[in-house]
Amino acid sequence: MLNKISTKLAACFFIVVFIMELFLMTYLHQNIIQSRVDEEFSRLLSNGKNHRDVLIENYSETTIEHIVMMEKNDDREVMITNNKGKIISRSSESVLEEFHTLVMNLEYTNDSIIVSDWRNSSYIVSAHPYHVNDNIFGYVVMFQSTSSINQMVHNLNMHFAISGVIAFIILFIVYAILSKLLTRPLLRMKKATEKISKGEFNVSLPYLGKDELGELSSSIQKLAKDLERLKNERNEFLASIAHELSTPLTYLIGYSNIAMRKSLTEEDRAHYLKIIGEESERMKELVKNLLDLARMDETSFTVSKEHFFARPFFENVCKLVQPSYEMKIIKLNLICEEDFQVYADPVRLEQIILNLLDNALKYSDEHSEVTLEVQKYETKTIISVIDKGIGIQADEIGFIFEKLYRVEKSRSRQFGGSGIGLAVVKELVEAHGGTIEVKSILGEGSIFKVTI
Ligand code: ADP
Repeated sequence: MLNKISTKLAACFFIVVFIMELFLMTYLHQNIIQSRVDEEFSRLLSNGKNHRDVLIENYSETTIEHIVMMEKNDDREVMITNNKGKIISRSSESVLEEFHTLVMNLEYTNDSIIVSDWRNSSYIVSAHPYHVNDNIFGYVVMFQSTSSINQMVHNLNMHFAISGVIAFIILFIVYAILSKLLTRPLLRMKKATEKISKGEFNVSLPYLGKDELGELSSSIQKLAKDLERLKNERNEFLASIAHELSTPLTYLIGYSNIAMRKSLTEEDRAHYLKIIGEESERMKELVKNLLDLARMDETSFTVSKEHFFARPFFENVCKLVQPSYEMKIIKLNLICEEDFQVYADPVRLEQIILNLLDNALKYSDEHSEVTLEVQKYETKTIISVIDKGIGIQADEIGFIFEKLYRVEKSRSRQFGGSGIGLAVVKELVEAHGGTIEVKSILGEGSIFKVTI
């Protein structure tokens, strides 16, 4: 198929240049010939006129002889007729036979070209009437052989044919260069994309500059890198999910085995069943988050925004997390300045705030403090979750919204996160047309600011 592109291109290029060349060459060819023929005509007319003028001025046998003598050369002839149409002198006997009848019946009052067909006739002919007195008048008839013009045309054709061949060779060389410059990189890119589709992502394409081909080539390389990253991410994602699910499952199996023991007191059994319940909750939460994420990726996810009062809404959210905050003895403050209306999807917004409050709790030490601050800014609402917890290292901040990304994996495992919460938050905020920003200092705390 790519071979066809180069052929098509070459054919287009060839046809366009060929038509252009043909047009220019024909134009040039015709012009050169025309100007040369015009030159011949005007020379013939001026010579004939000179002879006629001399003859009128000095009409005599000697003058006539003189004129005929002057024209006895290779390619020009002269003929002089009298008032009866008879030829009184001529420079050549044989050559002019075919024009005899023409010369006999001349009826011109001005100098004229009487045979102009230089392609088919052996001579071009001009007639110059002379009038000495009422008895002496007639024509000076000039003949110019067309062989020199035909020779010139022949030579010209030769030159044009040679330049045509040279142009053709140049065209071919240009085609070869074009095909090298254009088709080869395309073929390479085609091979590269084939490799990518087979799952080999280490494609290397040469640098092709900043034109469209260069851009295409770097896009392909970028695509290969992105695909490789995605493939690795997917593998890591699956491994993490497997790990994430297997940890609570191990607990569930272990504790359910213990809970089944007959020797166990009712109190102990209740304790183990409670652990089983908690772990199951955690798994349910994880699976719910995963489902949310999958739905968001498919973009089948919709938000249905509505107006509602801010204060009761955020008070209610705080109430939901209050028990877990109390368990860790962390104070949760709500600052909701005035009672204004928020325009958002309440279910999704609750999910966003719960996730952020959950993180603030998870990554704060006991006796710490978390603040949920809600402000109105023009038509928007700014919601900040401020904690005085462990904070995030500056170079990690850019990654925390990626799926399953966790700062210091071992440490996070200790906190029990799955690395999905913030990815879900980001998708939800963006689905609202909002933004989320993070400011954090390691060891001092973090601020998550959602503008919706
Ligand atoms: P996780 O379930 O592990 O908390 P998230 O997606 O919610 O996953 O968060 C990603 C990472 O960002 C976490 O592993 C954690 O290290 C970091 N992080 C999130 N919120 C906070 C916070 N309030 N303070 C410190 N680190 C945080």
